[in-house]
Order: sequence, then C-alpha cells, then structure tokens
Amino acid sequence: MAIRTGQEYLAGIRDDREVWLDGERVDDVTTHPKLARMAQTVAAIYDLQHDPDLRDQMTFTSPTSGEPVSLSYMVPHSQEDLARRKHALEIIAGSVNGMLGRTPDYVNICVVAARQMAHLYGRNDSRFGDNMVAYHEYVRENDLCLTHTFGHPQVNRSVAISELPDPYIAVGIVDTTDEGVIVRGAKLLATLAPFSDEIFAPVYRPLREDAPEDEPYCIGFSIPVNTPGLKFICRQAYDDGKSLYDYPLSGRYDEMDCLAIFDDVLIPWDRVFSFRDVALSNEAVQKVTLWRQYAQQVAVKNVAKLELILGMVRRITEGIGISRFDQVREKISEIIDILATNNAFLRAAEADAEPVDGGLGEGIWLASEPLIAMRHWYPDAYQRVTQIIQQLCAGGLMLTPSEADVKGPLSADIEKFYQGADLAAKDRIQLFRLAWDLIGTEFGSRQTLYERYFNGDIVQLRQRRFASYNYSRAEAALASFFDKLQADD
Ligand SMILES: Cc1cc2nc3c(=O)[nH]c(=O)nc-3n(C[C@H](O)[C@H](O)[C@H](O)COP(=O)(O)OP(=O)(O)OC[C@H]3O[C@@H](n4cnc5c(N)ncnc54)[C@H](O)[C@@H]3O)c2cc1C
Repeated sequence: MAIRTGQEYLAGIRDDREVWLDGERVDDVTTHPKLARMAQTVAAIYDLQHDPDLRDQMTFTSPTSGEPVSLSYMVPHSQEDLARRKHALEIIAGSVNGMLGRTPDYVNICVVAARQMAHLYGRNDSRFGDNMVAYHEYVRENDLCLTHTFGHPQVNRSVAISELPDPYIAVGIVDTTDEGVIVRGAKLLATLAPFSDEIFAPVYRPLREDAPEDEPYCIGFSIPVNTPGLKFICRQAYDDGKSLYDYPLSGRYDEMDCLAIFDDVLIPWDRVFSFRDVALSNEAVQKVTLWRQYAQQVAVKNVAKLELILGMVRRITEGIGISRFDQVREKISEIIDILATNNAFLRAAEADAEPVDGGLGEGIWLASEPLIAMRHWYPDAYQRVTQIIQQLCAGGLMLTPSEADVKGPLSADIEKFYQGADLAAKDRIQLFRLAWDLIGTEFGSRQTLYERYFNGDIVQLRQRRFASYNYSRAEAALASFFDKLQADD
C-alpha cells in the first residue's frame, strides 16, 4: 500500500474498535464530537507525505516493495540517515508546533528500534525474532499508526505484579492454543489509542528471574486495536467542540490517553515477540533501548514547541509593554537557553551515534549519554518554561474573554480595555488564550504531566543511573587529585 493519504488513514480507523468515553461506547472515532478534530489532525499528518514538495523529504524507498514508505520506518545506518530522518520529524513536529507527543512517527521509531535488535528476541527461539522483523515490514508497508503500552495499573506499586489482589490486573497469559496466546489484564497508558491501527506492547519492564509466578507476565506482542476482547477507556476529553479562538490547542491536539483492557484477547503466534523467557526479556529490557531511537522525535518535538512558546512569550511581552524590563528579558533568555540546551543534547546524540551490542544489532543508535541527561533534565526545564509564562503573563491569563464576548454587545468595551501597547484587543486576547491553553487548561496541565512522565519515572530512572553509571573516571580524578596533593606536600 505504501504511504497512505489522510482519507485512507481515517477509513482505516473507522471500524468496530471498542473505545469508551464518558461511560458510552464510541460509535466512530472519526465523527465523535470530542474526538473528530484530533482524528482530522492525524489525517493531516498523513497528507503531508503526499504534498509534492514534501514527499521525497518524508519517505524512502522500501527495500521490499520498492514503493515510497515513511522515513520514520527507516533503519538508520549512518549519520546521513539520521539527518534525513530528523528532517522528516521536523516537518511533522513543525506542522503541529510540537503539541503532539505522539505523532505516528514516535511509535514507528520504537518498532524500528525493536527490529534493530530482533536477533535478541529470537536468540532462544528464532520465531520471535522473525516475528519482529516481519511486523516492522508489515507496519511499514501498510503505513500504520500505532499506540504503545508498557506499564501496569497503578494499584499497588510496593508489590510485584504477581502479588496484586487479582492475578490478572497486569496483563498475563491465561492459556495457549494452536492459534496463539490468550491474555487478560490491563496496560497503561495508551496515548493516541482511539486514533491508532495497532497497539504495540513489548515487555519493557523487568520481571523477577527467581520468581516462577512472574513468568506468566512475560508476554510481548502487538495486535490491531480492533481485536475482539480489547477495549480502551479514555480519560476525560479536553476537546469539547468549542471555538478554536478560545481553545486553539485543546481543540486540535487532544491526543487522548487510555487504559487498555485485554479481556481474554487472542494474540496470534506471529504477533508474539517474547514468551515466558524472563531472563531473555530482562536482557531485552536492558538492551533494546527504544528511547535511543525515539528520543530524536522527542527532541525535535521539543524544539518545535519551544519555538512556538518563545515566539508567543516575546509577542506577549511586547504587546503589553513589559519587554524593556531586565527581569523580563532575563526570563525570555532562560527559554532560549533551554531551547539551545535541548538542541545541544540532540546534536551530541546524533554526532556520537554508534552500532550496539557488539555490532549484532542492525544499524546505528543515537548516543545514550546525552539522551539520558536530556531525559532527566527536560521535565524540570519544561516546568520552568511554564512558570515563566505564568510569571510574565500574570493576571492577563485570567482576563481572557471568549470569542463570543469579543464579537458580542460589549465589543466596544473589550476593544478599549483589552487592547495592548501595540495590539488590538482581539489579537491580545487570542495570544493570552493560547498561553492559557498551553499551561492553564486541562490540556495545558496534561502537557506538563506528559513532559514529566511520558518517558518513564525520572525518580526511578535516576536511581538506575546511579546504580549503573561507570564511575571509573570520577574515581581516577579523585585519586590523582590526592596523589598530586601528596606529591606537593
Ligand atoms: C500524559 C501521559 C502520557 C503517557 N503515554 C504513555 C504511552 O503512550 N505509553 C506508555 O506505555 N506509557 C505512557 N505514559 C505512562 C508513563 O510511562 C508513566 O506515567 C510513567 O512510567 C510513570 O508511571 P506511573 O504513572 O504508573 O506512576 P507510578 O509508577 O505509579 O509512580 C507514582 C509515584 O510513585 C513513585 N514511585 C513509584 N514506584 C517507585 C519506586 N519503586 N521507587 C521510588 N518511587 C516510586 C514515583 O516516583 C511517582 O512519584 C504516559 C504518561 C502520561 C502522564
């Protein structure tokens, strides 16, 4: 099929998927009043690949069909490949101003990373490695949109998943048949699920190797979201159909987050990547570092978002006549520093990209050190950006009448009292509504939460970093310092 148009994508998600929102089953995610605009947003991303000016920049030639396929499915083998992929990511992130974490390229790249390490999944049983390679080819050739889920329901984090009050809270194996594996339980958190074709669920959390009761939870797979028995419960929607003047972001970019419930779902054998092999899965959790590929999308998305924010903050501060104050300029400079630091992490990760696993893995991977540092730094950096917006916009964030007010009987008052230093009232209000949607609405709060958690829990990731870091250079530096001290004594 090669690359799909927006219309083809929409036709693909118009099926019998079981999506629940506000206590009701959604008939059609492409027409539901709280989901339709987001479906259109994703469709527009698919259409970009068909723009004659962009097509070559966003696709590469499929090694199997010879057709153009999305660049996000390319296995990178060189710096040039990474640069090419980055450019395609920039086009997509730019088209939505970085407001979507999960443009389809994100999980596409996760699948690429898993394919690069397919030999590991297949080390003890070649079927599973072959499945991963075939799956990558399948999604690439059909230009599919994926969600992914790694975690388990937040019931009791202080016990192992096999010790939860019900054996099937986390997704576990119920039975096997000639056709496949039957699983039951739930996974979180599936962003973009209502708008996806497939759900990708590799084992991505370590299990206990000395606990046989953990073995049934060792199941990695991917299936269509309309598989019988699979249902999704949406969080509250943030797009309630209101005017885009009033909610310029909520109205277009509510990518939705869901709990995925597997009610005795059959995973066909050719869609299984890990099965009951806890030691191997734990090794894969360590070595199949999906983030060493998808972090490129993350960093590119951060740039697109920070550039919009910088433009917005600068215009607001000029618009209300505060840009000449030193403290205001200093805060704007902080945003510039964050943008530049993000770029530096990405450039370093690309420059030092390398093969992994002694060359056994396919292609090259972004360097891990800059990406780990970026992953641990960005949540606080982004939160600082939101604080700056709050501090510079101040009460203006509350003085945001709606489009109906702007056009209503009090429009003359609005023009007089809501104007800025060099802005008409309607433009000033629109800017502040954008700022509020970015940091203050439910959509805005979710953005901040997303930046903190989408990549995992930094607290636990930093603990792992503490435990696994190679301290030899630091120890040598200290030893040489004392050696010099002794010599000088
Ligand atoms: C908006 C959003 C979108 C997301 N999208 C996706 C997605 O598409 N796919 C996906 O797979 N995941 C997604 N995630 C989930 C994300 O990976 C998790 O939120 C993250 O890993 C943290 O897990 P948790 O939310 O279950 O928090 P928990 O693990 O329950 O943590 C809650 C608190 O307890 C602390 N804590 C828990 N356990 C420990 C411990 N052992 N030691 C010390 N402190 C601990 C944490 O530090 C944290 O403060 C998304 C999250 C958000 C917020």
